[in-house]
Amino acid sequence: MAAEEIARADFTMATAVFFLLENSWGYILDKYGSEELRKEVLHKVASGENFLGIASTEPSGGSDVANLETSAKKEGGKYVINGEKAYISGVMEAKEMGGGHLTLVRTGGKGHKGISMIYVPINSEGITVSRIENMGRMGISTGIIKYDNVKIDEKFLVGEENKGFYYAMDGFNHARVLVASACIGSAEAILEEGLKYIKEREAFGVKLKDLQSIAFEAAELYTKLEMARLLVYKSAWMLDHEEKYKDEIPKFSAMAKLIAPQTAFDVIKSVMIWFGAYGYTKDALIESGMRGLMSYLVGAEGALNIMKLIISKEILK
Ligand SMILES: Cc1cc2nc3c(=O)[nH]c(=O)nc-3n(C[C@H](O)[C@H](O)[C@H](O)COP(=O)(O)OP(=O)(O)OC[C@H]3O[C@@H](n4cnc5c(N)ncnc54)[C@H](O)[C@@H]3O)c2cc1C
Repeated sequence: MAAEEIARADFTMATAVFFLLENSWGYILDKYGSEELRKEVLHKVASGENFLGIASTEPSGGSDVANLETSAKKEGGKYVINGEKAYISGVMEAKEMGGGHLTLVRTGGKGHKGISMIYVPINSEGITVSRIENMGRMGISTGIIKYDNVKIDEKFLVGEENKGFYYAMDGFNHARVLVASACIGSAEAILEEGLKYIKEREAFGVKLKDLQSIAFEAAELYTKLEMARLLVYKSAWMLDHEEKYKDEIPKFSAMAKLIAPQTAFDVIKSVMIWFGAYGYTKDALIESGMRGLMSYLVGAEGALNIMKLIISKEILK
């Protein structure tokens, strides 16, 4: 509900992204991290001094997490990290504010059982960061992190070695529900704007709302948004009762992430068209919602086909 409300006020969802990254990955650090690591990192994240994000995706691909290549070799109490992460949210914020990313690295053999999660402060020696200009989810940066013999103390390992894949999947379950909530909030606010507009705007001597083609479209979008919201709330509720629903959570969070961005896209597209030429301008702000939303249709927190993969595997097993 908080993610939804934040996105209602910021259609691009940039502020909601800050909120959901800190919350979902902060939660994972709290759940699996050592007492020492939690003390060192979480207090500053909770107080807003430091940024905390997730670094999983690599230039060779993001969907196939199990085959990531960035390596971490243990040498005398330190992990020596080499490799590259791409399209990572908050790289510039972490650099400016301080903080870092829960970073997925290969510490063991091939596949998902050889992956660990290490908290890597972004200002560590050997790291270079660059910004990627994207379509425009404004307000939070996306970028590349390069690791060249970056030495990280072993106390920054989250949980156990070679269990990082499982911690990441747990984190994605939470982040996906929060992303879905943000999409609902943004679409909700834009639909409200649209309903207001069609009640006032006239064409051919009648209000747009009195044209049945537009009124029916509004009715459908309103209904679909409510359906998506209820699925998101159910998924969020399951996460609040994690122990009881642990077997169902991956499927539900994938369903929420599958449906919320697509529903939001339908809403935003229609409202933009109701607004006519004004909808296409920067003044109307609707295009900023579409730019933010596209990041979730494309891939942030998992591509749509990957959501379908998770759901189909679950219902067909
Ligand atoms: C704005 C933004 C912010 C991001 N922030 C972060 C971040 O903070 N941290 C992070 O780690 N990553 C981040 N990402 C990356 C995101 O996690 C990836 O985009 C996502 O995992 C998909 O990976 P990819 O882009 O490499 O696409 P690919 O994995 O190369 O996939 C390309 C296409 O192929 C499809 N595809 C792939 N595999 C299959 C399959 N088995 N079956 C059917 N279709 C398939 C996908 O659906 C997709 O359409 C961000 C991305 C964006 C756009």
